[in-house]
Amino acid sequence: MGSISTARRLFLKRVSRYGLSLALLTGAKPVFAKSTRTLTGIRISQSAEDHTRVVFDLTGDFEHNLFTLADPPRVVVDLNDTRRSNAIDISTRQTSLMSGIRSASKNGGRLRVVIDLQSKARPRSFELKPDGKSGHRLVVDLHATNLSPTPIKTNQEKRNQRKQKFVIALDPGHGGRDPGAIGKRGTREKDVALSVAKKMKTMINREPGYRAVLTRDADRFVSLRNRVKKARAAEADIFISLHADSFHKPNVKGASVYALSLRGASSEAARWIAKKENSSDLIGGISLDDKDDLIASVLLDLSQTATIQDSLELGSDVLGHIGKVSRLNNKKVQQAGFAVLKAPDMPSILIETAFLSNPSEEKKLRNPKHQHKLAKAVFSGIKKHLKNRQS
Ligand SMILES: [Zn+2]
Repeated sequence: MGSISTARRLFLKRVSRYGLSLALLTGAKPVFAKSTRTLTGIRISQSAEDHTRVVFDLTGDFEHNLFTLADPPRVVVDLNDTRRSNAIDISTRQTSLMSGIRSASKNGGRLRVVIDLQSKARPRSFELKPDGKSGHRLVVDLHATNLSPTPIKTNQEKRNQRKQKFVIALDPGHGGRDPGAIGKRGTREKDVALSVAKKMKTMINREPGYRAVLTRDADRFVSLRNRVKKARAAEADIFISLHADSFHKPNVKGASVYALSLRGASSEAARWIAKKENSSDLIGGISLDDKDDLIASVLLDLSQTATIQDSLELGSDVLGHIGKVSRLNNKKVQQAGFAVLKAPDMPSILIETAFLSNPSEEKKLRNPKHQHKLAKAVFSGIKKHLKNRQS
């Protein structure tokens, strides 16, 4: 994830260490209505003159609504069915952007938190799920409107400047000591994935205006993090991870396409598969858990949401073309927390081409002709996506 420079990373780490853990609230007493969750803390930190971050800690899943009001400028956050913990320390604290915080319980168990601003600021908010260290959180970032945050050029923008080829990173799943799924006839996921990727690479490089790079070109172990790194180093515009699935029921079959989810997997199966695919890094002994909250949330800041949207559209176009040559397990793009899809500015999808645990699909996947068809379908999907995006 090279768009976050090392300096910036260190800076953020430092900020998080100094993160002023001040909890303050003045205002109305909490109403002990049927509130299903509690606001247990408010943490405020200032990472720069023009940026203040307010993190709300909550005991459960919640929904929030944020809006701004003028004269005097303030940001209003409504939390549904929430009460404020009495334990929250009441003190006042200011940053260069905010002059205070207050809260009041509203009708229907709603908790309204008002952030009073020193001057006009642009708020952005997002929710974070529990991650082992912290529970449910709402993050509100305030940016001064007169000073815009340093713009970060996406690969797409860099490419447009240089008018070079459209670079597709192909990521054959697993490799080396990590075979991935293994079929009844001994077909290994890592081999099938590499074979399809190589066919696709040849195909792409023959097409004017396109270039393919592989995150591994041999039966080698590459950590998930390094796969993304390699793709970014090649200034890839999109990232396609190729896999084949397995399941304990041999009758389960069909292809699926995944995009990254930031808010939990879209289905139980998606969660399960993500866990399995992510575990290959544990085999390599490198934990991909970069669970630094601040980093995670900065990644979100960098319009990860837009990248995911693009990934979903790309996935949908690819799925449509795969559907012409293979059976589909899911007709919609699934979302899960795949580590390999986490580049913030590179639309990324993971394709489970078929189930190796299904005997007929294993047979098909071994077949070079079918591999070629699959490769062609994925590339056609990509081209369709680019055409749609231009029009
Ligand atoms: Zn896999």
